[in-house]
Amino acid sequence: MSDNRELNIIHLYPDLLNLYGDRGNIACMQKRLNWRGIGANVSTCTNSDHSINLEAADIIFVGGGSDREQELVCGLLLKKKQELVDYVEGGGVLVAVCGGYQLLGKYYQTASSKIEGLGILDIYTDAGDDRLIGNVVLQSELFDQKIVGFENHAGRTFIGSHTPLGKVVYGRGNTGDSGYEGVVYKNVVATYLHGPLLPKNPMLCDYILGCAMKKKYEDFTGFEPLNDELENVANKYIEDRFAGEK
Ligand code: GLN
Repeated sequence: MSDNRELNIIHLYPDLLNLYGDRGNIACMQKRLNWRGIGANVSTCTNSDHSINLEAADIIFVGGGSDREQELVCGLLLKKKQELVDYVEGGGVLVAVCGGYQLLGKYYQTASSKIEGLGILDIYTDAGDDRLIGNVVLQSELFDQKIVGFENHAGRTFIGSHTPLGKVVYGRGNTGDSGYEGVVYKNVVATYLHGPLLPKNPMLCDYILGCAMKKKYEDFTGFEPLNDELENVANKYIEDRFAGEK
């Protein structure tokens, strides 16, 4: 089935924040829309072209990276702070991974500097002495299926009264010991889970795409399911390996 519906996806600074191939999440969103006959226009905002058309944006994605690159991106995005706050408050979909997640908060205190964040979420991050690295399995209230992924961060993110993305079943999560990972706020999904987050978690990808479709098309009632056999095998493999019965 094909129609003329389409979503505009903006990838913020893929030239600076693209650790572990966060870009794969864009390809996943694009494919899952195309497979359903829905168009996906991807545009980027880069260090050499800072223009973003937030008016037309349906989904904004920002990945993670080193503290140095994160500081650079924070400086650039602070110039668009109010527009981004308005976008989120108006129900715009925003997906942020790791460094991108941290920059949505009030600040990220590294060992050497305090990086001012966008203040979109009422959260803050302090760097710890060691890095939290490894596989992660989460139980989210949004899905029966576990969310699986990989984390690598020095920052400990304190989310206050925000709703987490999930409860940590395996791994470290927001602070290493809070027992929770990520934040879901309005149509924002922010998480420490890097790399092929959406390919390994098709239900999360469809949740994000569904939020954008609902906002743009009043008559949208949900997606036809896709054949996610392989994706579900990959997801279950990680769940069983790290959080299965011992
Ligand atoms: N530089 C940040 C940290 O170490 C984010 C890292 C990342 O995006 N993987 O906490």
